[in-house]
Amino acid sequence: MNELNKQQLAELHQDLLGLRKELQELLENSSAGAQPVSLDEPIGRLSRMDAMQQQSMVQANRRTTQIRLTRIEAALRRHASDEYGFCMGCEEEIGYARLKAQPEAPFCIDCQSNKETRG
Ligand SMILES: [Zn+2]
Repeated sequence: MNELNKQQLAELHQDLLGLRKELQELLENSSAGAQPVSLDEPIGRLSRMDAMQQQSMVQANRRTTQIRLTRIEAALRRHASDEYGFCMGCEEEIGYARLKAQPEAPFCIDCQSNKETRG
């Protein structure tokens, strides 16, 4: 049995949709910053090196955002097929508090920390 009630499930679904929108917008807004540094562009007091460091940070952030977005999409698919809220490792309930903090979490705390310990 799923410990999440209908209301909690609906709420987490809204959270997932909101997060997805937020991250998609983030990716859209940062796409300009991820472009190769232009030689012609006036970059003011930023040196070219700074601009390139800035750019690689933006790209790293974009990768992180894309990975999170992928997890959110997967969580939405699990939600649609009534598998949402269960750990993909041990199939135990992930728990509302953890999902509320991280609605796209595919693992319970135990499996997550096992993964991290094992690398
Ligand atoms: Zn687990």
